[in-house]
Amino acid sequence: MEKEADLLLHYGNKMHAAGLVTGSGGNLSVRVKDSVLITPSAMAYGDMEPEDMVLVDFSGKILRGRRAASSELGFHLALYEARKDISAVVHTHSPWATTLACLGWSLPAVHYLVGYGERNEVPVAPYAIFGSQELADHVVKGMGDGKALLLANHGLVSMGADLREAYEVAEEIEFVAGVYLRAKAVGEPVILDEKAMAPVLEKFRKYRGLK
Ligand SMILES: [Zn+2]
Repeated sequence: MEKEADLLLHYGNKMHAAGLVTGSGGNLSVRVKDSVLITPSAMAYGDMEPEDMVLVDFSGKILRGRRAASSELGFHLALYEARKDISAVVHTHSPWATTLACLGWSLPAVHYLVGYGERNEVPVAPYAIFGSQELADHVVKGMGDGKALLLANHGLVSMGADLREAYEVAEEIEFVAGVYLRAKAVGEPVILDEKAMAPVLEKFRKYRGLK
């Protein structure tokens, strides 16, 4: 448990330092056996200590912790229920991905690194107010069997087998979103087709297996 709390703190600080969130925005969690360890609500990453992480069961009941769980606990839990293959969820408000989400645009394969989301594009889920069951439902449906999803007028959710992977997905999708919007500002970007993306997705699957 201590190890997971340290990792949450490490990636939370990294996420903030990289500009993927501002203030107390965004949140991260990791699956720990039959429970989930998640960052606390309304607390700046720089002020957090490992003891501030909140352990909850799948009904959302607090098992351990001195703080309230992140307001987005609902979609974190829903994702773990829906996807037994994942053990970490990262939610950011990273600027380029959020800009795309505010346009209501999905992110196409403008760069092969979009494959970090395990699909040819990162779709955008419809808007619903933060912390709501409606948002959790949109997130599970939109995520499907992928690993990244834009949330309309809100931000980005990514997942992985561990926190490192979930964080990398968030970072790479943010990079591709930036490339796409800058390319769009100048002209019409060339989008990689399914034929070009299929071997990329295959390579990424193998690469992940090696880590
Ligand atoms: Zn958010």
